Amino acid sequence: MKATDLLLDSDPFDFSDNAKKLFLESIKENALHHYQKHEFTRKLWDKLGFHPNELEVENDLQKIPGTMVHLFKEHEFCSVPREELALVLTSSGTGGQKSQQFLDKKSLENVKRLAYSIHRSLGMASATEYNYLCFTYDPKVANDLGTAFTDELLTNFTGKKEVYYAIQWNGSDFEMNEKGVVEALKRFEKSGTPTRILGFPALLFEMIEKHDLNMNLGPDSWLQTGGGWKGKADKEIPKKEFRQIIHARLGIPEENQRDLFGMVEHGIPYVDCKKGNLHIPNYARVFVRSPHDISIRPRGERGLLHFQCSYNFSYPAPSLLTTDYGRLGTCDCGIGGDTLILEGRAGVKKHKGCALKALDLIR
Ligand SMILES: [Zn+2]
Repeated sequence: MKATDLLLDSDPFDFSDNAKKLFLESIKENALHHYQKHEFTRKLWDKLGFHPNELEVENDLQKIPGTMVHLFKEHEFCSVPREELALVLTSSGTGGQKSQQFLDKKSLENVKRLAYSIHRSLGMASATEYNYLCFTYDPKVANDLGTAFTDELLTNFTGKKEVYYAIQWNGSDFEMNEKGVVEALKRFEKSGTPTRILGFPALLFEMIEKHDLNMNLGPDSWLQTGGGWKGKADKEIPKKEFRQIIHARLGIPEENQRDLFGMVEHGIPYVDCKKGNLHIPNYARVFVRSPHDISIRPRGERGLLHFQCSYNFSYPAPSLLTTDYGRLGTCDCGIGGDTLILEGRAGVKKHKGCALKALDLIR
């Protein structure tokens, strides 16, 4: 895993030729591993006439066939013996459409390490102590759920005092402790310690409205959202307006409000800069493809998102074709590289992921 170690040692937002070459070498190493260890991937690539040894220059990355995301939902694809796995991450879907990812020890270390580097580079890691309000499941009872895993990971990027998990196990089911949330926020406001709120934007917004929250958590407080407005799309508030409301009602500065987009099957966090744009790190590539013939769309145009990453040697998804629409953009904040603009999901099939399930818990 030499090339991948070198890549993950490098700055996630270095887009120099040397840095890009590190990604190329890393994904070549990763793709060769899966080609050798995972029969389905090898047969698929053989059939499509692709071999990882063809990866020589940046443009060759487009040649790696994207494995359709639904195949990972329907089959348990794994490139190492099951006993070597350290964690199986699952998104709480229903109807058999469960999203999951397999991580052996090294791949788990890799994903934690890259998530930390990305957050640190975006100014979000800190030695300062924070109180945390997490709109998610307590990881003590739901550590294998994608959202609980992410939140526990994120709380480790700063010093922490109290961590309050809003969705609790009542002995027979998960339940949102609304009273506990309001009390925690009031306690945090008075504590003199800054606050970080992690969670689904719709859940937080509904709590603000329902309990008429008006408080000032202070200029050092943060809001880190993720999971989108799934299931509450009709109530979705445009990001810019949402940031203004959160500032007005909770006193959290707009530049400290950061959204994160991630998929359980892919694992790379795409995180907002202070201007509110999701930046694509050099630990990944994002291609935008036509839904008709999967050809590459012209820059800036809308299409299906095709993600590539190289950190996971146990789960054969280095090249993942999704059913999510989006396009590439740019940002003038100084971080550089492309940004990811999300434009919804293809198809009409109702999808009940973690976010939606959690939204059912608040009435
Ligand atoms: Zn930016």
